[in-house]
Amino acid sequence: MLSLKTILRHAFKIRCPRCGVGKLFLAYGELVETCGECRLPIRTREPDTYFFMYMSTAAITGTFVISMLMLAPPKNQTIGSLLIGLSAIAIFFITTPLRKSISIAWEYYTDAKSENPRFPG
Ligand SMILES: [Zn+2]
Repeated sequence: MLSLKTILRHAFKIRCPRCGVGKLFLAYGELVETCGECRLPIRTREPDTYFFMYMSTAAITGTFVISMLMLAPPKNQTIGSLLIGLSAIAIFFITTPLRKSISIAWEYYTDAKSENPRFPG
């Protein structure tokens, strides 16, 4: 059993949580069926990542809302609001692969630690 630190290190590289070599995505947002190196099932774990993805999206949204409330209104509010909104959308899309990778790694770690793992090995 790998340590959580090792599994998260693999996640931050956006690689398979078990071997750290295989890619997680075929394309943006499209998970591989299994790891190309160690055959760890990846895509079947996706439903277990939804909670983390929703909560991290909410955290990003909340951060932007609080930032908007704390900052002085820009002189040109239309352009300022547009820039803030576009920044939030960009950060959401840029961080999606990393957030998904972390949630897959967490699911792998908790499943491997459970008494009856869904994906033994
Ligand atoms: Zn692997």
